[in-house]
Amino acid sequence: MPKFQSKKLTKEVVLRDPVHDYIHIEDQVILDVLQAKEFQRMRRIKQLGPLAYVFPGATHTRFEHNLGVYELTRKICNIFAVKFPSQHRGDGLWDDNNRLLVECAGLLHDIGHGPYSHTFEHLFDTNHEKIGQRIITDPHTEVNQALRQVSPIFPEQVASVIAKTYPNQQVIKMISSQADADRMDYLKRDAYFTGVTYGEFDLSRILQEIRPYKNGICFTMAGMHAVEDYVVSRYQMYQQVYFHRVGRSMEVILKHLLERAKTVYQQGALQVTLNLGKFLAGNWTLDDYLKLDDGVMESNFLLWTESSDPILADLTSCYLFRKPLESVCIDEETKNLLPKLKDLIKQAGFDPQYYTDTNSAFDEPYDAYKPSGKNANSQIELMQTDGQLIELSQLSPLVRALNGTIQGDERFFFPKIMMSKNEEPQIFDPLYQQFQRYIKNGKLRYLRRPKK
Ligand code: ZN
Repeated sequence: MPKFQSKKLTKEVVLRDPVHDYIHIEDQVILDVLQAKEFQRMRRIKQLGPLAYVFPGATHTRFEHNLGVYELTRKICNIFAVKFPSQHRGDGLWDDNNRLLVECAGLLHDIGHGPYSHTFEHLFDTNHEKIGQRIITDPHTEVNQALRQVSPIFPEQVASVIAKTYPNQQVIKMISSQADADRMDYLKRDAYFTGVTYGEFDLSRILQEIRPYKNGICFTMAGMHAVEDYVVSRYQMYQQVYFHRVGRSMEVILKHLLERAKTVYQQGALQVTLNLGKFLAGNWTLDDYLKLDDGVMESNFLLWTESSDPILADLTSCYLFRKPLESVCIDEETKNLLPKLKDLIKQAGFDPQYYTDTNSAFDEPYDAYKPSGKNANSQIELMQTDGQLIELSQLSPLVRALNGTIQGDERFFFPKIMMSKNEEPQIFDPLYQQFQRYIKNGKLRYLRRPKK
C-alpha cells in the first residue's frame, strides 16, 4: 500500500459553507487543486441547470458541491481514523493512508461536468465521466500538476477511485454508493438552495453511526432511523424537486433549442459566439470543453433570440424568458392518443418535432431488491451486534414500502396555448377545443393518478 502524503499547510484554511458550516483545508495538494483553473471553472456551472427556473434560489454551482463532498469525506476519514483504525492488513478496518486519495477523489468527482451536462452530452457526444478522467490524468492540466506533487502515479489513482476500479471498496463507497458523501451533500445542498424542507435529514447522527467493514461501509443498528430518514428525504427530493414537471419542461425546451441550433448551423445560417461552434461542428478539444460554461451558452442563446430561423428564435426566448411547455401524465393506455394530439398541434402551427416531447422520470430512490440494478452492489447495510450485515429494507417497513411504489411518471409536453380558453372566438379555437376534449376524455391529468 503506497502512502499518500502531501505537505501540510502551516495554517489551516477554512471556507464558510451554508451546509457544513466550514470546509477545512489542511493539505497543500487540496488547496492547489481548488486553485487550479479547471476546478475554478466549476464556479460558472450551475449545479441544477434549468431547475433554477422553478426554484429561483437554486443557482448554486458545481464548485461548492464538490467542496462539500470533499468536506464530508474528510469528516468520515476523521471518524474512521479515531474509531476504527486498522491494526493489521486485511482486518477490514480503516487504513488512514487512503485519506488523501479519497479526499482528492471527493473533491474531483464531478470535475468533468460541463454546462447543462445532461442535455448537452446527449446532443454533442461529450461524456463527463471520460472528460473528468482526462482532466485528472492529462499532464497539461493544472489539476494534474497539483496532484502529481503527491506522487507521479497519484493522478491515475485518484481517477481510478472515481472510475470505481481502485481495489479498496471502502474508498470507492465513501464517494459512490447508496449512502455516500456525494448524495448526502447534494441532497442537503439542493434542499437548502431550492428552499424546500424535504432534503433535511440528520447528517450528524448518520456520521455517528457510519463504520467501515471489509468490503465497504455500513451503519450500526443505532443509526437505522437516521438512515431511514435519509432514504425518505431522498425520495421526496426526487418527487418534489428533481422530477418537477416545470423543470423537466424547461429541459425539453433546452434540448429542442440545441437540436434546432445544430440544424440551423448545418445550413450555415447560425450566428455563434465564443467556442460553441466547435461543438456544433463536432470537432472539439479538451481545451474547448474547458472554456464552456453557463455564460457561453446563455450568450449564444441571447444571440439566437434574434435568429432568422423562427423556431430557434422562439425556443431560445421560451428558455431565457421562462415560458415552459404544458404537460400531462401519460401511461400505456393513453399513449395511443399522442398521434392525434400531435396532429392537432401541427395544425395549430407548431412543428411537433420541436414543440412536443415525452419523457419519463423513473428513478429508484433505493433499488435494494434488484440484484441486477445499477447500484446492486452498494446497498445500505446495517451491522448487527454479532457483526452480521442486514440490508436496510429487510429491517425497515418504511423503506420496504417505498421500494414497492412507482417512483416516477411519464409526461407528454406540448405548447401551453393548446389549453387556452378564449372568451372571444379565435381562428384556432375549434382546434384547441378538440385538443382539450381529447385531454379530458382520455383523462390525461397534470398530476399522476394514484395507483388503485
Ligand atoms: Zn456530485
